[in-house]
Amino acid sequence: MQPNNLTKTVLLGMSRSELEQFVAARGIEKYRADQLFKGMYAQALENFDGLTTLSKKMRNELQQTAQIRTFKTLQATKSQKDGTTKFLWELSDGKTIESVIIYEGRRVTFCISSQVGCALDCKFCATGKMGFLRNLTSGEIVEQVLLMKERAERPPTNIVFMGMGEPLLNLRNVLKASEIIADPAGLSFARKKITISTSGVIPGIKKMADINAPWSLAISLNAVFEEKRREIMPVSIQYPLHELMKAIEYYVRRTGKRVTFEYILIGGVNDGEADAKRIIKMTARIPCKINLIPCNSTDPDFPPPTGEQIVRFNNYLLDNRKTSTVRMRKGWEIQAACGQLYSENRGKAGAKISFKSTNSIGKLPHKKET
Ligand code: SAH
Ligand code: SF4
Repeated sequence: MQPNNLTKTVLLGMSRSELEQFVAARGIEKYRADQLFKGMYAQALENFDGLTTLSKKMRNELQQTAQIRTFKTLQATKSQKDGTTKFLWELSDGKTIESVIIYEGRRVTFCISSQVGCALDCKFCATGKMGFLRNLTSGEIVEQVLLMKERAERPPTNIVFMGMGEPLLNLRNVLKASEIIADPAGLSFARKKITISTSGVIPGIKKMADINAPWSLAISLNAVFEEKRREIMPVSIQYPLHELMKAIEYYVRRTGKRVTFEYILIGGVNDGEADAKRIIKMTARIPCKINLIPCNSTDPDFPPPTGEQIVRFNNYLLDNRKTSTVRMRKGWEIQAACGQLYSENRGKAGAKISFKSTNSIGKLPHKKET
């Protein structure tokens, strides 16, 4: 069910079989579900008027009981410098999330959110400060992509779950939305070009391995010494590094795919030679590439390294035959860069997980997945 204040049934985010059930319950022929699927996703229709394959009567009936989209666009901010565009959307229950379009040469990356806020409380991340408010539905994930497609200068070449939230803690909806985005009769987007990024939620990584998920996987490593990682990423208390690396090895073995490690460089914290050496050792058996991201934060405890340090760190990895790239800061001045996404949400503060307790991650303060 869609968490909203709406009385109509929201169709966006429904799979083919759910649409079949929806039409069957209204005595409509089964093949109409396919027309609805194509209409909502491939044709990106906002309402039923454009569904000319349906009779006028049928369209009117649908209009009265169902709706496709749910977002209100509150803001769209474009960087004068590099074209990066950040969107602030209001969801049907009044909560807000952000998504970003990044232009880099020929690449057009849509950075989308999977949750409202995040419970994992990484110390360098603005979304972490919001706490967790709720999971996004599959429809809300797809709607970000549809709306940005309408507003982007060019169609997306990459879609990354690197906006707000931890996608592996909303895996069901993330997978469902990704299926719709990739479906040839849906948004027909290349499967491999959809990347799910995780801070290291092991059960989710194993699940992706077991179902041989066709999406790409990125892991936000950010620190390679356990103590340091626990300090800046409390999720490491629940899912320690050595177990995380084992899970990634399992994933790579099962899927035959390589992974991407995201590594935020924080000046004086994790940008030394010992860190670089350890990355090489830890990833020796894992086919991977490494993305270095100079930390985007205004918090003096998390400064970006100097340009010289970044080059030195990157060269060290490259000299040791690691594929490594430095991700340039995009959209900094409009607070759209990695880790800067934050949206004010009225009402109850978001929940954060206390990893000191013995609570298992399965008891996160989530609402039931929808
Ligand atoms: N929760 C997931 C996906 C969303 S965060 C995850 O953690 O992977 C997306 C990316 O932004 C992650 O790689 C994260 O490490 C990075 N990030 C968070 N805060 C950042 C900051 N202040 N500077 C640079 N990157 C940051
Ligand atoms: Fe959540 Fe990812 Fe931010 Fe950590 S970096 S708080 S997991 S969104």
